[in-house]
Amino acid sequence: MTDTAAVLKDVFGFDGFRPGQGEIVEAVTAGENVLAIMPTGGGKSLCFQLPALLREGVTVVISPLIALMRDQVRALQEAGVAAGALTSGNTSEETDAVFEALSAGRLKLLYMAPERLAAGSGFLRRVGVAMIAVDEAHCVSQWGHDFRPDYLRIGALRRDLRVPLAAFTATADAETRAEIVEKLFNGEVPRTFLRGFDRPNIHLAFAAKDGPRRQILEFAAARKGQSGIVYCGTRSKTEGLAAALREAGHAALHYHGGMEAEDRRIAETRFQREDGLIVVATVAFGMGVDKPDIRWVAHADLPKSIEAYYQEIGRAGRDGAPAETLTLFGPDDIRLRRAQIDEGLAPPERRAADHARLNALLGLAEALECRRKTLLAYFDESEVGCGNCDLCDRPAEVFDGTTAVRKALSAILRTEEWFGAGHLIDILLGHETDKVRQRGHDQLPTFAVGKEYDRRAWQAIFRQMMGHDLVRPDPERHGALRLTDAALPILRGEAEIALRRDTIRAAAASRRPAV
Ligand code: ADP
Ligand code: ZN
Repeated sequence: MTDTAAVLKDVFGFDGFRPGQGEIVEAVTAGENVLAIMPTGGGKSLCFQLPALLREGVTVVISPLIALMRDQVRALQEAGVAAGALTSGNTSEETDAVFEALSAGRLKLLYMAPERLAAGSGFLRRVGVAMIAVDEAHCVSQWGHDFRPDYLRIGALRRDLRVPLAAFTATADAETRAEIVEKLFNGEVPRTFLRGFDRPNIHLAFAAKDGPRRQILEFAAARKGQSGIVYCGTRSKTEGLAAALREAGHAALHYHGGMEAEDRRIAETRFQREDGLIVVATVAFGMGVDKPDIRWVAHADLPKSIEAYYQEIGRAGRDGAPAETLTLFGPDDIRLRRAQIDEGLAPPERRAADHARLNALLGLAEALECRRKTLLAYFDESEVGCGNCDLCDRPAEVFDGTTAVRKALSAILRTEEWFGAGHLIDILLGHETDKVRQRGHDQLPTFAVGKEYDRRAWQAIFRQMMGHDLVRPDPERHGALRLTDAALPILRGEAEIALRRDTIRAAAASRRPAV
């Protein structure tokens, strides 16, 4: 398609397609129903903007982010494309101009906020709509955290206009995909593209928490003057960590959903414009941040799922230049994330899926070889040793942890699954604490059988056991650890398990108190 190449060059100024873009553009231009799952920064806007120019009529683009819509419209107009937007941010002159261009048949791209659909979309029937493009299509998912009720109107709009629909999202999990197909395409399965999840310029690394504040400060110190984001699990932590970074001589701001809208906007604008600023934020920060030269992303706490992890680290290095990441995790994170899932309002199937997504992330955290291989396998892509992750840099040293794990599992069973790691470790180490004596746990056969490791090593073993989903804290028993089915083969001597020695050693070597 020479046409395509010419428009790509003349209008967008690009010499070629990015991975995955070409086939999607071809299918959308041909009028197929398309679901494209592309990572953030993968270049999805081109996948509907370019076909919009090649097709007869106006393409309706539904997007939840007004600021992003306005940016895209401005960029298109500057490139000489007839584009307009209908959003709550419009002046009446802007709206009038859009309707005028529409009825004259001049408009090629019409951006609309989903809320606009509620006000009636009958006028679209009269203006020759070529197709509908839906950005951030996962917003149709009622279980996702980005749910936008007005997205549910899109399915009806598609049926009403009888035009093809192209949906775009960066969320890859099968459940969300199925929900998009059901709600946007009324169950008619669209051509699905899942491409380009590899971001080879981003260095991946995980570390067990061992004084997290110090670990983050060290990571930032080695990257002084670079723009970065630190994600934290709580609002108060963002403020504390930002202050600590400023004290260490960095330019740092905090950001969370509890701040005034105006203060949040100021932080976003400063981050966008200034070089070398660090934003310490909750996950509220990021959607809509389009800064190409973020050089690093650190997680002071474990993200909630492998998708969230991917999305958050994916904000680094959009310009393609090297970028670095570090994700800290510890047993408290695992406990917290499990509890959030169990205590949420989601139905049981949904909870099981959320546990599986968390397990996928923990599998990545406890990976024994190339992180990228593990990560991309989740997204159905393959990779053989990336050379750009901590485990490719320095392979994990593993040991046969079967005996240690069996001892820990048996301590859990002998105490009838009523205790947390702290007390279980006391039993394994043979510590005669009051609690141990009162419960008669010094009489158990597992008492003092674990003296070959110290407390921190046992903590690392328990964390890895949680990471492998052999044990889970039970919220109805104050977080007492209980065995999962996955533990049974190990307990019965039918399976062995390899554990990472490095994290155990690091834990044992360090005498610093945890923060
Ligand atoms: P997202 O998938 O996050 O919506 P965008 O569509 O905003 O990503 O694209 C991300 C960046 O990649 C933009 O700066 C865009 O100009 C650039 N880009 C997209 N397609 C190409 C291409 N074929 N060649 C070069 N740069 C591209
Ligand atoms: Zn690797």
